[in-house]
Amino acid sequence: MSSPRIEIDLDKIEQNTRTLVDRLGARGISVTGVTKATLGSSGVGAAMMSGGAVGVGDSRVENLSRLSVLDPSTSRTLIRSPMLSQAGQVVRAAHVSLHTDQSVLRAVDRAAKGQRRTHDIVLMVELGDLREGILVEDVPDAVRAVQEMHGLRLVGVGANLACQSGVVPDDTNMGTLSALAERLEEQHRLRFAIVSGGNSANIGWALETRGVGRINNLRLGEAILLGLDPLHRTPIDGLHTDAFRLIGEVIEVAEKPARPWGDRAQSAFGEAPVRSRTGTIRQGIVALGRQDVELDGLRAPQSVTVLGMSSDHLVLDLGDQPTKVGDELTFGVGYGALVRAMTSPFVTKVERTGLPVTRRLTVVPKA
Ligand SMILES: *Cc1c(COP(=O)(O)O)cnc(C)c1O
Repeated sequence: MSSPRIEIDLDKIEQNTRTLVDRLGARGISVTGVTKATLGSSGVGAAMMSGGAVGVGDSRVENLSRLSVLDPSTSRTLIRSPMLSQAGQVVRAAHVSLHTDQSVLRAVDRAAKGQRRTHDIVLMVELGDLREGILVEDVPDAVRAVQEMHGLRLVGVGANLACQSGVVPDDTNMGTLSALAERLEEQHRLRFAIVSGGNSANIGWALETRGVGRINNLRLGEAILLGLDPLHRTPIDGLHTDAFRLIGEVIEVAEKPARPWGDRAQSAFGEAPVRSRTGTIRQGIVALGRQDVELDGLRAPQSVTVLGMSSDHLVLDLGDQPTKVGDELTFGVGYGALVRAMTSPFVTKVERTGLPVTRRLTVVPKA
């Protein structure tokens, strides 16, 4: 089979979704499955839906269009504020979109009217992480403005923490969102269907707080895909952390000195990595590089150490692994490595479900 490739175990993704849906469901919180780290894979989206997600979300219109092959009842949410230039595409590709800007809202309203549709929107509120969001004191104005836009229907409010500044979801910031939702509902005689508290970084808070208030939805990517809590990148109890495996092929194996020789300056990507061993090592090269994956979060097989990676060569200390040229090595991925591998045109994506191994491989054609 061609390499490099990333093998995706859809059963594990479904099981991770189910576990989180059950745990959060007990607290009155639904799960929107976020597919953006998988380039909007419809296989991944379908696994999330089978696991009990109420819909799928992605930050890119192109990915949402890819997800339109899912069952027509599947709700698709654009989780990044639309580009003005894509308003028409957003109305076609998404049922719901998250918003922070009134000129964008007006453009999406016009596009929705033009397409004779009603488009659902969620207003995002800034709670301190300083990425997207309307300042709390400006939200009432935005609500009034949206209520004049008859192509749009305001279905909720939401927030996003942790991604930009690492701000931790807690009773204070979630309480602010809850209180704002309640105040708006009262003032405008509304009932929000969605009060979306955040992303995978909110799971700890949602499961441990005494009361979740009006928060009734989370948008989850990393926790479902990698089984990790992004606040500390620690495994979440009971979830699979190996639904994705990156496989590369060995192209050189040789006994070599452990240390470089000659005068030294910068390497291909800045400062050369430090080599700590002395004497000789069994050095291996895998045909994988920064065009396929990033080093951060790449986990080598047992007893193998990563020494560095340039655009196309991953250099390893093979330790006592009996590896030879032509062998395949399997790596675990973190979030950054996953995103790079899934978006690289050089990496074949292979999705599996619970059939016998020989029958369960579906190769997704390269884009
Ligand atoms: C990426 C993203 C998510 C999902 O984040 P994870 O940490 O992968 O769960 C949710 N909401 C928004 C707005 C995002 O950009």
